[in-house]
Amino acid sequence: MNKSIWYEGVKLNKTKQLTKDIKTDILIIGGGITGVSIAYHLKNSPYKICLVDKGTIGCSTTSKSTGKLTFLQSDIYNKIANIYNEDIALKYLKSQRHALNIIKQIIEDNNIDCDFTPTKSIVFTIKKINSLKKQYKFLKQNINIKEVDFNKYNSKYAIQVNDTYLINPLKYVNELKKILLENHIDIYEDTQIIKYTKKNNNYICKTRNNTITAKIIIIANHYPWFIKPSFIPLKSYNEKSTIVAYKNEDIKDISGINIDSETISFRPYKDYFIYLNDTHKICDNDKMNVDTFKHSLCAPKINYIWSNHDLITMDYMPLIGKVEDNMYLATGYNTWGLTNGSLAGKIISDIILNNKNEYIDLFNPKRPLNLSSLKNILSNIGYNIKAYLKEKKNIKHKYQNNQKVAIYTDDQGIKHKVKSRCPHLKCELTFNKKDNTWDCPCHGSRFDINGKCILGPSTKDITIDKE
Ligand SMILES: Cc1cc2nc3c(=O)[nH]c(=O)nc-3n(C[C@H](O)[C@H](O)[C@H](O)COP(=O)(O)OP(=O)(O)OC[C@H]3O[C@@H](n4cnc5c(N)ncnc54)[C@H](O)[C@@H]3O)c2cc1C
Repeated sequence: MNKSIWYEGVKLNKTKQLTKDIKTDILIIGGGITGVSIAYHLKNSPYKICLVDKGTIGCSTTSKSTGKLTFLQSDIYNKIANIYNEDIALKYLKSQRHALNIIKQIIEDNNIDCDFTPTKSIVFTIKKINSLKKQYKFLKQNINIKEVDFNKYNSKYAIQVNDTYLINPLKYVNELKKILLENHIDIYEDTQIIKYTKKNNNYICKTRNNTITAKIIIIANHYPWFIKPSFIPLKSYNEKSTIVAYKNEDIKDISGINIDSETISFRPYKDYFIYLNDTHKICDNDKMNVDTFKHSLCAPKINYIWSNHDLITMDYMPLIGKVEDNMYLATGYNTWGLTNGSLAGKIISDIILNNKNEYIDLFNPKRPLNLSSLKNILSNIGYNIKAYLKEKKNIKHKYQNNQKVAIYTDDQGIKHKVKSRCPHLKCELTFNKKDNTWDCPCHGSRFDINGKCILGPSTKDITIDKE
């Protein structure tokens, strides 16, 4: 449960954990596609690079994606044009095509085996025909794209491009990790940064037992555990989906996604079919499980089921670049992080190496929010409060030794007690009965039933203090 298909046939060799204090020029925090891509582009620089991950490289959000490399990303161009204008949407389109070339080049240069396969990508709709036609018109002026017949999933209208790809994202990142190790990049796994301070122009980054002193730090950990200077909680919300893989070879040469309120996304992989559904804000409960997927897909067996969540920014543009002197950040990929994380690798390395890069301003994480983005922020706060109030009835609260405790009683009548608030920004937690986890409805931290933190941004557990 919750382990994706991408682990099939991938051999993960853990590197060492940090056990002493060290100094480095550049510390990259987080080894998903973003962190390894940044390290890859910096590997031949004069800087000493250190990459740390609190778990295993590649095994968080990246390993739970659907592994599509495409610039035909649902209705993102309509959304960006609505918030900004068509010029910005066009620049975003160019950046995504550039990202595909970056990945293709890395795979070719290093002969990487990661099931990289060309595919046709479609975007279809069941209900929003006019909206998709609008996006088609915009794209048609700029790229090769056509209207096609696609009859599955009650589709009424579909558009298609050819030059896109499929990948096993975990294999790709794992191969990049090997290249980094061959190039003497220091990698430490099971090494979590829990705090940083600034002293004499250096960043002092604390793990549980040690300290890393770095001149430059790069926050590539998907969701920063701190608020200032990046203010990510204000600029984004989390969206979650469930994905299944089952044996089916009906659709072999095409991948797709729709633009309707109920997201459907799919792609083939070997003799499996990968299907994504049940997309919702992190504060809402999952609706689908193995049985409901089996039923709706008429699949005799579901071989894999997992869920994933990603940051959706208020203006649908990633946040990549400098947030303060010698601190860089990359996140907010709106579920298109394989292209954007790879692009972040090039953008951030180019800034550090003083190279020109035409996307530095476009994704500047310090860009001001415009009125449309502000409206999105307010509606998101309202939504979170409503969802919390709805979920509240599943748990009881009481004060114990001056701390507020949340209690969930399971089907056997056993009471599970934890601190009621998320250590990250003090949001009240809800209990997720499907996964048996305590979830933060605001920013996506997750804790097991006993309160151990299993997913950030929180760096702390919610186990209750002993009397
Ligand atoms: C359902 C779904 C499907 C998706 N499918 C696609 C797709 O087909 N194509 C696409 O382009 N994108 C897709 N995405 C988006 C993509 O998966 C993500 O945007 C991308 O993987 C994010 O990569 P990352 O490197 O930023 O984060 P991660 O992969 O999460 O890497 C961050 C790393 O940081 C580590 N970390 C966290 N905190 C700390 C700390 N304090 N100290 C040290 N290490 C830390 C974590 O262990 C983790 O390994 C999908 C997203 C979702 C939700």
